[in-house]
Amino acid sequence: MIPPVLPTYNRAPLHFVKGEGSWLIEEDGRRFLDMGAGIAVNALGHGDPDLVAALTEQGQKLWHLSNLYEIPQQEELALRLVEATFADTVFFTNSGTEAMELAVKMARKYWYESGKPEKVEIIAFDGAFHGRSSAAIAAVNTEKMVKGFGPLLPGFKQAKWGDWEALAALVTDETAAVIIEPVQGEGGIRPLDPADLKALRALCDEKGCLLILDEVQCGVGRTGKLFAYQWSSITPDIMMVAKGIGGGFPLGAVLATEEAAKGMVAGTHGSTYGGNPLGCAIGNAVIRKVADAAFLEEVSRKGALLRQKLEGLVAGNPEVFEAVRGQGLMIGLKCKLPCGEVVQAGYGVELITVPAADNVVRLLPPLTISDDEIGEAVARLDRAAKAALETTKAG
Ligand SMILES: *Cc1c(COP(=O)(O)O)cnc(C)c1O
Repeated sequence: MIPPVLPTYNRAPLHFVKGEGSWLIEEDGRRFLDMGAGIAVNALGHGDPDLVAALTEQGQKLWHLSNLYEIPQQEELALRLVEATFADTVFFTNSGTEAMELAVKMARKYWYESGKPEKVEIIAFDGAFHGRSSAAIAAVNTEKMVKGFGPLLPGFKQAKWGDWEALAALVTDETAAVIIEPVQGEGGIRPLDPADLKALRALCDEKGCLLILDEVQCGVGRTGKLFAYQWSSITPDIMMVAKGIGGGFPLGAVLATEEAAKGMVAGTHGSTYGGNPLGCAIGNAVIRKVADAAFLEEVSRKGALLRQKLEGLVAGNPEVFEAVRGQGLMIGLKCKLPCGEVVQAGYGVELITVPAADNVVRLLPPLTISDDEIGEAVARLDRAAKAALETTKAG
């Protein structure tokens, strides 16, 4: 019999009832060290006092107000994002998928308004993830995501990650935009070299198409910069943000240059919930903290510490792990055993990690994780690795 909750997830039988900083507390009292942060969402950990204050303060005043009216919290957050990035303007959504929808629409509208309505095609990459809407699955077009969900939306092509020559051949007069994650998340923590991002920007300029960055997972401080593109010297035309920006409250955004956004005039796009006062009050509290230079430096320092300890872990468990990759507090452990076994063994030692494609275990802890907690996480990973190895050998 189908359960009351549509069974689209294989869920671990864990019942968390409370969160405290980097820790999740199970119903039975066990304390799990959370190196997943709700898949890079709980950027400030669980129960951050400033976020709780923003939530309760705004919650007592006004939760929702239609976009038919002015929303000061939304204006404040947009201004913060504009001041901290390449962007001139921002649209708020409730999720990364909705940000993807607008990014695609905006790119096409841009060319329509520019007198080139034939430019509609969007090029994405293998291993990418942009959400589960009809457009987002058509963009990536893997069997896992699209099988049975046809007909697929037309107007998307896929390029091979890392093969920039092949990409150049795919870009035609009908290409509206190229979309890429500066660090692939679901694809297995694959960072794009800043030099490659620069080459990609040059290619887009040369061929006359827009560059869309999907920073839904790698943005909001995760890599040690507010946004990952800021490690390079380039800027995109459009950028998608979500996950960390709400710190656990559903919030997303599309950032764009004035030029790229020129077709998005009144009536061309909308959202009932997007940019509501409650979400934006929380988003402001998140960005106020994360956009701080000292905070971001700490993320980089802690990322380097975690990385260094993980190199030791890999060296000490050569039958389990192959390599460490990633940037800041967005780290992947490429596994030799099935990565799911390591994640599973982690539950046995009260450690939360997240599997990804390419047989990678993802570590996406709260950006507020302490040095001691980093040490504890690696110690637990070591125990999990040994347990996973034993299970595999026994099986
Ligand atoms: C999670 C994710 C999305 C989709 O975001 P949702 O909030 O789940 O809709 C899109 N792009 C990337 C890179 C993601 O990691």
